[in-house]
This record gives sequence, structure tokens and C-alpha cells, in this order.
Amino acid sequence: MCNLITETILFFFLLRFSHISLIPYFNFIVKDFCLLLAAREEESGHFTTMTQGTATSDKIKVVYCEDGLLHNPPFEVTSGKIKPYVESPERLKSIKKYIDENPSMFQLISPISDYTLKPILDIHRPDYIAFLESIYQEWVNAGLPKDACIGDTFAQLSFASKLSEEVLLKNANQHPTGKMGYYLGDMSVSFMNETWRAAYASVQIVLTAAHELLRSIENSEANDKQSKMVYALCRPPGHHSSDHLAAGYCFINNAAVAAAFLQNYSSKDMELLQRPYDPVLATTTNLENMMLDEKPIDEKKKILILDIDYHHGNGTQEIFYDDSTVFYISIHGYPDYPHFTGSVDEKGRGRGLGYNINIPLDPEHTTDEVYLKHLYHVLNTEKTVVNFKADIVIVSLGLDTWFEDPIAGMKGLREKHTYYTIGQYIKQSEATFGKPVLFVQEGGYTYDKLGELVGQVLQGFACSSDEKLRLDA
Ligand SMILES: [Zn+2]
Repeated sequence: MCNLITETILFFFLLRFSHISLIPYFNFIVKDFCLLLAAREEESGHFTTMTQGTATSDKIKVVYCEDGLLHNPPFEVTSGKIKPYVESPERLKSIKKYIDENPSMFQLISPISDYTLKPILDIHRPDYIAFLESIYQEWVNAGLPKDACIGDTFAQLSFASKLSEEVLLKNANQHPTGKMGYYLGDMSVSFMNETWRAAYASVQIVLTAAHELLRSIENSEANDKQSKMVYALCRPPGHHSSDHLAAGYCFINNAAVAAAFLQNYSSKDMELLQRPYDPVLATTTNLENMMLDEKPIDEKKKILILDIDYHHGNGTQEIFYDDSTVFYISIHGYPDYPHFTGSVDEKGRGRGLGYNINIPLDPEHTTDEVYLKHLYHVLNTEKTVVNFKADIVIVSLGLDTWFEDPIAGMKGLREKHTYYTIGQYIKQSEATFGKPVLFVQEGGYTYDKLGELVGQVLQGFACSSDEKLRLDA
């Protein structure tokens, strides 16, 4: 404690008497000082949320369901190697452990609610959802191996580009191996008996979180300036899946479903759908009655999706590529998986032109500083993003940018504080300032560090002051 007092005196002494003008660096000095305090608190076993002037008594809301652990394929085939499935339940366990160990910081929302298949069908095709539910049993019934429900022949453009989607779907081989090729993008997606249940739980987690966020916005007082946030602890992840394709460990695009849910449903609509979570009820036999009455464009909330997973979120980009009401920004390692998307040339199409920004970064040479500079720039000085004036921000939160990640990683991204600063930027930047934020878990594979990295981002958001960043980084 004495050290803290000394550091406090020194800090203000420095501010008052330094011959160098510190004003341009004020934000960063304050930030670093608060991090120092936070670190001291952590060391002393009294980790509490830190604020810079504005008290934040609310805990961070975390939506969780243990059914996310059920999807557990034994192996995957990547780059010519057969290896244990990297997108393992251990990921979820690591994050949950961190949350359980810090009860003063987090408020767990569990059990989750169930909003039926309806919001899922606003994004994904009914035939695809029926496929996800039934393919494992069909595969086993066809006498194929129980532990290796994976595709090996894919419906590439060069196989079928001259055919209409209707003709292709009608005549495609309906054997499970044919269906796998039609609905899968690669060999990282593997089905087990409980895969559908885990994917269904994952999307209900994000819907529960979205509903919670909307409620907290509506219940806040007019003079309550505190930023609203909810964290959806989803597994499996979602940002590589498109309307009818599973890829990159992803089955249902959780962030995209949440975006459409927030756009098309009032909290009253959500309450009408809401029921206790029960995956047994998630049958796909009657999907046709569940199609959405979509809202007119000018009545929709504007959603900014910020994807900070190491990989380009090709599924999310694809889903909203023609859409001017959802702005998609991805900052990612490039070139790398998913190999065919993620360039700066991909800017949206038609009505969506200008509402898609990719920031590809060289994984070998991207440092903490470089990464933060790009994030700062897009959220503060990129006019199209600032002028978009989003109503709600969704963060596709991947932690596989960390340099030790076994399948990804920016080699120069080595400071845990960087993740705190990411959270701070999301709270304080021009384009996101004052916006409610839904954090949605995507990738990240350093099992032993995941909880801590997630915690840094969430605390960076929750603990930073309710003031805009004032400087160019
Ligand atoms: Zn990733």
C-alpha cells in the first residue's frame, strides 16, 4: 500500500512539474497508471474493477451453458496432419475457470433461455439447419465410422458454377457423404452425436446475451451514461459459417444471428419467444412456419460488427456483404486461413458497398503497437465507420492473435496489456463510444491463457473511464 501512495505522489508530481508537456500523452499515462494500480490490486489478491473517475459497480454479465462442452471430436485433419481437435472443450473450461475464480468481477447468467429456431433461420437456410441436426445420425445409419463424420469432397465452384443453386441442391447426392460436401467448407468441421446440441446451445447463449443487453439499455435511466456490455461465452464459435456452410470449427454464425435478432425483434418480441432452454424441443421438422417478417431497412437498428479474431470472419462478411445496416470490420492475420478472403479489396456490394472493411496484417511482423495503431485508426479516424453511427456494437472476440497460439498468432503480439487496451479502445473510440456492446466468443487456442486474455479485454472495457479517447495513437 505504501508503494501505491508513493507512486501516486510521484505520478502527480510528474504531471505538475515536468518540463515536458505531458498533456498530449495524458490518456496513455492515465491508462498505464490505472493498469499499474490494477496489477497491484491483483497481486494483493483484491482484484476489483478499476475506474478512472466514474464508479462502475456493476459486474460484467457472462452468459454460459455447459452444453458447449458436448461437441468433442477426437481429431481433425489440417495441413496434411491428423491431430487432436484443436477447438476443444478445454477452451471453454479455461475461460469458465477464470470467471469462477473472479466472482467479484463477473456475474454469471445461467441457465440460459431458449428463443427457438426462429432467429437462427433469419440468417441460415432451413435445409442447412436441418442438415446440422440430422447429419450425424444419417452418417452412422449409413454404416460410416462414428468417430470420423467429416467431409472429403467439396462442392467447389469449378464443379458446379454453371448450375443454379436450385438445380445443384435438387440433384446433389443425398447420401451423407454428398451432403457433407455440399454443406461443409473444409475438414475442420467434424460432427459427433452431440454437435447439434452444442451448436444450438451456443446460439441460444448469444440470443440470451442479446436479450439481456437490450433489457439493460431499455431499463437504464435517461442520465445513466454507463456503457452497457454483455459477454456471450459461446462454443462452438461462429464467424466462419455462412448461411449454408459450416467451416473453420463453426456451425451457426452466433454473431450474425445476434445482429439480426437485435435488428428485427423488440424486447417484447424476444419475451414472446423466450422459454426455458430445452434442446430436445429444437426439432427442425416444422421450419417453414418460422420465417421472419423482416423489418424495413429504415426501421432497423444499425449494427457494427468488430471482428478481432486472428482469422478473417469470412462467414460474417458473406452474410452481410450486401447489407448497409450491418457494418463489418475485420482485423486479422493475412495471408492465412480461410485463404480466399480477407483482402482490402473486399468492400461490400450493391447496397452494402462501403460497409465492409478488412484490415489484413502480416502475422510475422505485427507487434502490439502495430495492432493497436490499426485498431485505433479504424475506430477513430475512418470516416465511414464513425459516420455509420451504430446503435449497437458486436465484438467477435477471438484470442488467437496471442503470439503463442498453436494454430495462429501475431508473432509480435506479446503483451497482455494489449488486450486490456483493445477493450479500452472499444469503449472510448469515436465510432463505438457510448454504444452498448455484445462480446461474442470466437476462437483462441492457448488453453491455459484464454481466461486471462478474455478477462483483459472485458476489464479494459468495463474499467476504463466513460470518456472518449482524445489523441491519435
Ligand atoms: Zn480464429
